[in-house]
Amino acid sequence: MTQQMMRVRFAPSPTGPFHIGGARSALFNWLLARKAGGAFVLRVEDTDLDRSTKESEENIKEALRWLGLTWDEGPDAGGDYGPYHQTQRLDTYQQFTDRLLAEGKAYRCYCSEEKLESERQAELAKGLTPRYGGHCRDLSDAERQQFEAEGRAAVIRLRVPENKDVVIHDLVRGNVTFESNGIGDFVIVKSDGMPVYNYAVVIDDHMMKISHVIRAEEHLSNTPRQVVIYEALGLPVPEFGHISLILGKDRSKMSKRHGATSVEQYRTLGYLPEAIVNFLALLGWSPEGEQELFTLDELVQAFSMERVAKNPAVFDVDKLNWINAQYLKKADPALIARLALPHLQEAGFVGAAPTQAELDWLARVAAALQNHISYAAQMVEQADVFFGDTAEFENDEAKAILKDTEVAEPVRVFMQRLAAADVVDMAAVKTILKGITKELKLPGKKVFMPVRVAITGKMHGPELFDIIPLLGKERTLARMNSILAKLA
Ligand code: GLU
Repeated sequence: MTQQMMRVRFAPSPTGPFHIGGARSALFNWLLARKAGGAFVLRVEDTDLDRSTKESEENIKEALRWLGLTWDEGPDAGGDYGPYHQTQRLDTYQQFTDRLLAEGKAYRCYCSEEKLESERQAELAKGLTPRYGGHCRDLSDAERQQFEAEGRAAVIRLRVPENKDVVIHDLVRGNVTFESNGIGDFVIVKSDGMPVYNYAVVIDDHMMKISHVIRAEEHLSNTPRQVVIYEALGLPVPEFGHISLILGKDRSKMSKRHGATSVEQYRTLGYLPEAIVNFLALLGWSPEGEQELFTLDELVQAFSMERVAKNPAVFDVDKLNWINAQYLKKADPALIARLALPHLQEAGFVGAAPTQAELDWLARVAAALQNHISYAAQMVEQADVFFGDTAEFENDEAKAILKDTEVAEPVRVFMQRLAAADVVDMAAVKTILKGITKELKLPGKKVFMPVRVAITGKMHGPELFDIIPLLGKERTLARMNSILAKLA
């Protein structure tokens, strides 16, 4: 038996920012395609002319490339099943519509908006689920001609069989049954000639030979309509898999309230694409073992639909931060500095046109901070340690450390020796600090902590051995003088 090639697709509507949930759908499809040696198709569902924009499409494509989820067929990539924009496929939909009309499986409906709305309200008042009342289902030729002559706008509705169970075999959810009576004859082509999503998607998935439709759970309720269309057209139904909703930590549907929801926002904050992909994979899928960090290649090996959960996935930003922090630890400091730069500029730490020397220095700052931040923009929160000639106590606890009479001497000696040092590099700083500990016979915390507080105003932060050479002699001393003056 010849196995059908796995062909999956990601089919975004370019109507706004590229949501994290969309990126997860793209990733799951991409992983399946790569694992099976199949094809990953990108299709742009742009029939909503009012809301679709080129800008959003470009944004989605750019984000997919950034995440490493490149497509085998689609816009910019070409392929044998194009065009890959729905607005360029109107002729194709028209051919299918002509066939449905000719076979009596679809019909023109001339009902006005007002009529439909009052029908809807009447059904709702009776506690029923509103569905089309069927007025135009069996119009006579004469009635139809009259409506046409009146110039009435018409939509096209599918004639949905009554009293039928529509069963969806879902790879994630098992069999899900809907009653056809709950659907009613629905619109497949709007009066402006545009196909509705449920209709276009079926024709496209068929024409593009899509074998598996893997998408968000939000679309599960659309699927019976799509199955009814496949059946009306006599087309084979693909496999479906509806992946669970993404909830915020409070278990309500993920929204702006929960923080950043678009891929671009995370990118701007200086998250790394490897980390985002790793995190997204774990939103609804669970690996077999304990491993939490996966490269894309490892995900391709490990991923399977069997381990995609039915229950909702919770978007835990702390987990994302942890994952990103792991990748940041290994990242090139120059990259981290580059990602942080716009944020440091916005915060006024760096000017609009930094010199190469400043950039090199920033990369060293990033190296000192890369174990202490979750995403590049967080460099701003720690940056005051490295910038400026003055420091402030972060709190009274920090101030109390310098008020300890025992620490005045080590701090004074440190300043003296630093002032006298020819070179202020990591080795020199170590020699000075360790020398003081030994000579004054003080425990490390009576030397290192007060010196740290005197320079930074804070009790925690990057290594002193990193901070001092980066600040340099003059600035370190200036900061220490400024803080000692605030002791009183
Ligand atoms: N254009 C639809 C969306 O963005 C695609 C849904 C599907 O994958 O069928 O939600």
